[in-house]
Amino acid sequence: MAENLQAPVTPEEAVDRLAAGLKGEVFMPGDPEYTAECSGFNEIARHRPSLVVAARGTEDVSAAVRFAAEQDLPVGVQATGHGIAAPVRGGVLISTRRMNAVAVDPVARIARVEAGARWHQVIAAAAYHGLAPLNGSSHLVGVVGYTLGGGLGPLGRRYGYAADHVTRIEVVTADGTPRTVTAADDSGLFWALRGGKGNFGVVTALEFSLMPVSRLYGGGIYFPGELSPSLLRTWRRWTETVPETMTSSVALLRLPDVPAVPELLRGRLTAHLRISFIGPEEEGERLVQPLRDVGPCVLDTVGDMPYSAVADIHQDPAEPLPYHERNIVLRALEDDAVDRLMDLAGPGSSCTDLMVELRQLGGALARPPAVPNAVGNRDGAFTLATLSQPGSPDRVLGPMGRWGTGRTYLNFLAGPDTVGAARGCFDPAVYARLLRVKARHDPGNLFRIGHALADPGAGG
Ligand SMILES: Cc1cc2nc3c(=O)[nH]c(=O)nc-3n(C[C@H](O)[C@H](O)[C@H](O)COP(=O)(O)OP(=O)(O)OC[C@H]3O[C@@H](n4cnc5c(N)ncnc54)[C@H](O)[C@@H]3O)c2cc1C
Repeated sequence: MAENLQAPVTPEEAVDRLAAGLKGEVFMPGDPEYTAECSGFNEIARHRPSLVVAARGTEDVSAAVRFAAEQDLPVGVQATGHGIAAPVRGGVLISTRRMNAVAVDPVARIARVEAGARWHQVIAAAAYHGLAPLNGSSHLVGVVGYTLGGGLGPLGRRYGYAADHVTRIEVVTADGTPRTVTAADDSGLFWALRGGKGNFGVVTALEFSLMPVSRLYGGGIYFPGELSPSLLRTWRRWTETVPETMTSSVALLRLPDVPAVPELLRGRLTAHLRISFIGPEEEGERLVQPLRDVGPCVLDTVGDMPYSAVADIHQDPAEPLPYHERNIVLRALEDDAVDRLMDLAGPGSSCTDLMVELRQLGGALARPPAVPNAVGNRDGAFTLATLSQPGSPDRVLGPMGRWGTGRTYLNFLAGPDTVGAARGCFDPAVYARLLRVKARHDPGNLFRIGHALADPGAGG
């Protein structure tokens, strides 16, 4: 009988075999490229995997997932590092930044993007055809991570969450198989991926609808911090009166006194009102006037603008920095809630958070999408999020919980202390269904890095 026994493969040999079969590369600790490949936007945590696979296509992702399953290692994914929760330690990190093709079909009004694409690519490609994607505040955020977590952006109240408009998902599941899932898929995967984030596989490409928006009446108005109580009171009443074509938010900014911060915002409290209105300029001006009447501002950039400049509305930071992000969802915002928020974070308070932000929900964000998905918080009226320096405990959201729905929004969570927070983003029945889909598609809990659902074997 022929000798059919093979010598056992050592982990080093397994890595060599993996690397030999890839279009992309494998970097190990000590390799010169390793640190840069693991780096991302939020520096509060840094991935330190046993190896990072710099993927160049679906076959690479598939090979990396199979390798991790064989070696019994957890799998994490990084596109940009804007949404890091826990770092990958001792597992496999799949870096998708090289998989960044974007294509727009202007007739079908559909975009197809690969796993590592950023919003600015889609915004530019869609704007060429007078269309807009449902991106968020920063054009540097990754399309896939944002969309899988819901996706709450400047067109949100008119069109809903980005996840509500996904039409097709290409994903590599825990068995290493590339699958295409759509609304016709009956495995629950299409439902779960849209809202349940990275718990079910590595998405290699997404297709989603684009909206017929080419211009906005939008921008930001920066008020001196002392006006924040009157701004917030006026804004909260105003939000009850505006149409769904108006999406707005207010952020209390306490940015450090360093050269990287624009001079007018440095080392002081500023209230930043953000406006995104789909409609004629004259109507936008009329709608915004009561907010301008709050008092003299420091800077007003609100006006007619092309959608391609949408990132100018929020002016989110572009350079990497370390921060915690936490949030709660509010069921309403009454005057007593504004007063309490001002005690906690207004002028004269001891708040040190870099940002305390309220975004209005409602409109299409409150309605179920045409094809049901796992995105929660349809009952919320506002998100209340904080960004704070590493090591800063939460002093705002706890006391504000009185006005909360008891839930949080998955995308506005970052940093190691948010690792266990995924359960709190969903109604119990939705969470239970997510666990059932997880148990079917990832019974070994390979995808347990980041905002992980509970171990499916642990029954929730
Ligand atoms: C400046 C800034 C502005 C933001 N603005 C908004 C906003 O307006 N609205 C909003 O909803 N959110 C917003 N976010 C949050 C953002 O949507 C999340 O942090 C999102 O997870 C970022 O995805 P990423 O791929 O860029 O980040 P990464 O850190 O690279 O990925 C984060 C997580 O996304 C998942 N993921 C990424 N790629 C894949 C993939 N291919 N397959 C499976 N899972 C994947 C994984 O769970 C991964 O751990 C903002 C964040 C920042 C820092």
